[in-house]
Amino acid sequence: MSPATVTSPLLPGSTLGVMGGGQLGRMFVHAAQAMGYFTAVLDPDADSPAGRVSHHHIHADYLDEDGLARLSKLADAITTEFENVPAQALASLAGDRPVAPAAHAVGIAQDRILEKAHFTRCAATSGVGCAPYAVIESAAHLAAVPATLLPGILKTARLGYDGKGQQTVHTAEELARAWEATGGVPCVLEKRLPLAAECSVIVARSADGRSVHFPVQRNLHRDGILAVTEVHEQVLPPALAQQAVAAAVSVADGLDYVGVLCVEFFALEDGSLVVNEMAPRPHNSGHYTLDACDVSQFDLQVRTLAGLPLVAPRLHSPALMLNLLGDLWFAPGSPQQTEPPWDRVLALPGTHLHLYGKTEARRGRKMGHLNITGTDVAQVRATAAQAARLLGLADSTA
Ligand code: ADP
Ligand code: MG
Repeated sequence: MSPATVTSPLLPGSTLGVMGGGQLGRMFVHAAQAMGYFTAVLDPDADSPAGRVSHHHIHADYLDEDGLARLSKLADAITTEFENVPAQALASLAGDRPVAPAAHAVGIAQDRILEKAHFTRCAATSGVGCAPYAVIESAAHLAAVPATLLPGILKTARLGYDGKGQQTVHTAEELARAWEATGGVPCVLEKRLPLAAECSVIVARSADGRSVHFPVQRNLHRDGILAVTEVHEQVLPPALAQQAVAAAVSVADGLDYVGVLCVEFFALEDGSLVVNEMAPRPHNSGHYTLDACDVSQFDLQVRTLAGLPLVAPRLHSPALMLNLLGDLWFAPGSPQQTEPPWDRVLALPGTHLHLYGKTEARRGRKMGHLNITGTDVAQVRATAAQAARLLGLADSTA
């Protein structure tokens, strides 16, 4: 079956569907509804953040045929908010309705082995390659790993996120034990690199091959989870920022990608740039776009899905985003869940609170984010530091 495509734009009044009901789906639904679209969410959870705010919520498993048929009957075009949605579900929907991003692109982003092969192909034109790595799918691969990759990080090829599925290994013995501990699933071993900074670029690309992008943002991770994103003109040396944008666009072009794509990079201590991974959807590091840009990453997701024109987004304020994890709902040593002091945080000028409607806080769970905008970088940083103090967060600088 050849994929259905958007031949003319789907105008407001149409229904846009999304696979997955998490916070990214919720913010997509908000953006779509603000533009006058109806929305349909498919998620196995009866009480998902996006399902709660959508016009239609199909409570079904991602591979449930009846659920997929209902989604494709309701929605005029379908996107995903969740990269581990089975690629075959997207492929089956694509027989009836335009689906963006396409199953093949999502399938590559779901598998670090395919993803790195794609990055390596793109490096021929962009000049930005990935960290030295080896694929480990068998005992023979394990035995052949060169010592130059150690110390390294063993990452499962599939289903890893927020640092899960990763182990740092220093010796061949540790590597062998770590691979065994994964159950011998396909993995990549990456050389551990000296990072000066981490950054990412969000690209939106339409079916006609045109793309636009947000400025490069700088990211700080804690315990493998994004903690802070900062964006303004001095966030990275301009030449490095340009290189990252060009590399991200080449990654999207090489996939003939339609939709919003985030590409993550490492800036190394020697001044070079390495591509780390990609997410076939809006990204946590792009949440500042909701308040600091004239169109957000979710607006562009709506536009790419509906076949509407893409406009280059403009950052109208320096911005800093603090991720709000469930840990903030618990005082040290207390099992009791209490609401953080939002009233005090919101007394600070330029703070924009986004909570995802999750009633149960758990440590490490993404509950929301706080965007901070202001007239200059120093002011934004000072406000972020005050907000971080009120919330009991560690240092807020990326
Ligand atoms: P995830 O899918 O969990 O986000 P990543 O591959 O992005 O997985 O790794 C999570 C974090 O671990 C990165 O943001 C970075 O801080 C660190 N990291 C990953 N790979 C390397 C590496 N090769 N060298 C140094 N640090 C790394
Ligand atoms: Mg990552």
